[in-house]
Amino acid sequence: MHILVTGGAGYIGTHTCIALIEAGHSVVVLDNFSNSHPEALKRVEQICQRPVPFYEGDAGDADTLKYIFSQHHIDGVIHFAGSKAVGESVEKPMLYYRNNVTASQTLIETMNDAGVHTLVFSSSATVYGDPQSVPIFEDFPLGPTNPYGRSKLMVEQIIQDFCQASGAFSGIILRYFNPVGAHDSGKIGEDPNGIPNNLMPFIAQVAVGKRETLSVFGSDYPTADGTGVRDYIHVCDLADGHVKALETLHGQPGSHIFNLGTGNGISVLEMVNAYASASEQPVPYQLVARRPGDVACCYANSDHAKKVLGWEAKHDLHSMVSSSWHWQSGNPDGYQSGK
Ligand code: NAD
Ligand code: UDP
Repeated sequence: MHILVTGGAGYIGTHTCIALIEAGHSVVVLDNFSNSHPEALKRVEQICQRPVPFYEGDAGDADTLKYIFSQHHIDGVIHFAGSKAVGESVEKPMLYYRNNVTASQTLIETMNDAGVHTLVFSSSATVYGDPQSVPIFEDFPLGPTNPYGRSKLMVEQIIQDFCQASGAFSGIILRYFNPVGAHDSGKIGEDPNGIPNNLMPFIAQVAVGKRETLSVFGSDYPTADGTGVRDYIHVCDLADGHVKALETLHGQPGSHIFNLGTGNGISVLEMVNAYASASEQPVPYQLVARRPGDVACCYANSDHAKKVLGWEAKHDLHSMVSSSWHWQSGNPDGYQSGK
């Protein structure tokens, strides 16, 4: 298949481009570099040893999309492009509704006009809000607690309504749990701008000496060690989930929703210890107050993806932290390293 990957220069997008190419598909990337670096795509080309066709532009710009659809025979779109910082979404909700919701609507309409009927959409476990119990199944009640999460849920609903009305459109909604780790090559990985919001890149920057101390947000949760529990999933497993979803559901009209997680809950302190051990570096931390809006425990049941897509996560915690360290230690300043 020939796949348009919006946001293909980003963290999950780069890993997915490689997985698609390795599975025998071809990709065209559209990215505006609002949260990524052109060097990331050069590294993808190095790893795959082939050029990756690329357009710099906005995934919500109909003219750009029309042009791409006129230049390439596209079978499906994976839509990673979007804004993803929870805190920023509270400060700038309209940015999130425009860049995530309005852009997705334009993309779907333009795809449909061009006769492209398969979309894979990056959703998030955040649509579940504070779950009633764990593990989380796809039919659990939805209740995002911030504009970012609501923007993801709105796009899910747009996709479902459109699939129902169209009768020809396949909308594949993937709810990611917590993507971490990096490609085995150590050439690509997560490269956040500024101070990382997420746990794993923050730990990585402490281990490499860029930051002094990790703040552990909350040590009085009702979990085994009192710290928050999440379902961390290796980014290469996640990438593989996109390939399997496309290969299974391309040409199957309707909306399809899957959790992509491992089913294992890992606490903040377990992650800190695993990282310190794999990197053989100290990871100093201090226990501080809970972060507002955080839930105690969140992990997936991914049986539906296993049953329908034949997909399950293969990488363990050691593989997640050691691949992250391979990337971080070789590229302490991310894609700016050595420049
Ligand atoms: P990322 O920021 O690394 O990648 C997103 C890419 O999209 C970047 O390259 C950015 O430059 C680009 N982009 C943003 N807005 C754009 C626009 N309007 N037009 C063109 N390009 C645009 O993020 P990521 O971690 O790779 O996440 C990819 C997707 O997965 C996002 O939609 C995110 O919300 C979703 N997601 C991420 C996580 C996570 O923890 N990383 C979890 C759940 C869901
Ligand atoms: N966390 C932390 N310190 C940090 C960042 C995150 O203790 O600097 C905790 C956070 O409270 C949560 C877990 O790590 O329990 C995962 O947080 P992250 O932001 O990576 O993912 P999310 O909250 O979106 O699941």
